[in-house]
Amino acid sequence: MEPRRLSRVDIGDKELADYAEAVGAEALERVRVLADQLRGARILHISSTPYGGGVAEHLSSQVPLLRDLGIEVDWRVLELEDRFIEVTKAMHNGLQGMAVEWDRKMEEVYEDLLRAHALGFQGEWDLIVAHDPQPAGLLAFLDELGDGRHRAARWVWRCHIDVSDGGGPVWDFLRPFVDRFDASVWTMEQFVPSSLAAVQPRHIFPPSIDPLTAKNAELSPGFVERACRTHGIDPARPLVVQVSRFDRWKDPVGVIEAFRSIRQRVPAAQLVLIGSMADDDPEGLEYWELANRTAAGLPDVHLLSDLDNRMVNALQRAADVVVQKSIREGFGLTVSEALWKGRPVVGGRVGGITLQIRDGVDGYLVDSAEEAADRTVELLADADRAAHMGSSGRRRVRENFLITREAEDYLRLVPAA
Ligand code: UDP
Repeated sequence: MEPRRLSRVDIGDKELADYAEAVGAEALERVRVLADQLRGARILHISSTPYGGGVAEHLSSQVPLLRDLGIEVDWRVLELEDRFIEVTKAMHNGLQGMAVEWDRKMEEVYEDLLRAHALGFQGEWDLIVAHDPQPAGLLAFLDELGDGRHRAARWVWRCHIDVSDGGGPVWDFLRPFVDRFDASVWTMEQFVPSSLAAVQPRHIFPPSIDPLTAKNAELSPGFVERACRTHGIDPARPLVVQVSRFDRWKDPVGVIEAFRSIRQRVPAAQLVLIGSMADDDPEGLEYWELANRTAAGLPDVHLLSDLDNRMVNALQRAADVVVQKSIREGFGLTVSEALWKGRPVVGGRVGGITLQIRDGVDGYLVDSAEEAADRTVELLADADRAAHMGSSGRRRVRENFLITREAEDYLRLVPAA
């Protein structure tokens, strides 16, 4: 078997001091004090892809910030192949409770790729964080090789998804790999399947957003308006936006159905669905086409793909209401992104969305397309309430879901020297 190497993701620099205004002096000081005690510690993050989806989004901010704090942090990604991508997509769906085809051949595809990475593994670390199912098997194959040096690090599995339904045969396969880790991290306690070894230390903390990236930084009203016009959107008319991969769990079809109902009551309303095709997501195209078919004949629906971060930022800011109508959701960074921009969010009452939106305070939690439509219409009709919810959401994000809070959480995982 040919060894495979994890490849290093190159990312720019960040300076903690730049965050003073967004996060506040106290939060800055807390993370600085913690990092000072750990100066020189070495952390490796392993994930499957350098762009597309929430994991990539949060690591591209988290890694440079921790570096600025004097921690040696690396982010490396697996060398993927198509078959592995298909298998791990099925894995992701299966873990989230969908009935998927799962057989021994698929398990072998998974094992072979990680065994090859174990053969090519190099480097020494104090903390290694493997994100999501894709790299979870690496530790077992390193253990199998038997030289033991990799065990000098503390190995933590960071699960970004909700596995509470038990995950069926996929989880039966994955669990022994996860059991080997020294600890696991989950976004919410209720995501943890009951079968996970009770002896393994478990940490619960949600992801976060970076207020200074092109995705979240302030933009001038002029730029926002031009961004709308570039895409044929009228900035003077009501706008509803959802930003999500085209994926069944994000329910783009449900959003379009909700919009159909919104249009009957607010004929000037416009809908923007922004989706990217993540590298590790073979179903993207299928759902993109399905969304296009569902929207056929419905006026003022804009399906946009692969916009750059500033453009996504601008359209989130242009929205009167942001929707995140997921039917299953690990966290949903898009919710915090919108709340941070002072936009009220109508979100599915699932997973991490319920951590972010307090129902009736920062937006609304909904259980169906019809309810999403009703709440959106309510907010479109009452600009004061929408603005009030938006500013309450911004405060909530500031206190709970900004990058410095998560930096602290990661630093607490580093073993004492
Ligand atoms: N995103 C984007 N462009 C798109 C779709 C998504 O930039 O067309 C970003 C979105 O802004 C968010 C991340 O991708 O930062 C998605 O993270 P989330 O936690 O919402 O969902 P995931 O894709 O991880 O399930």
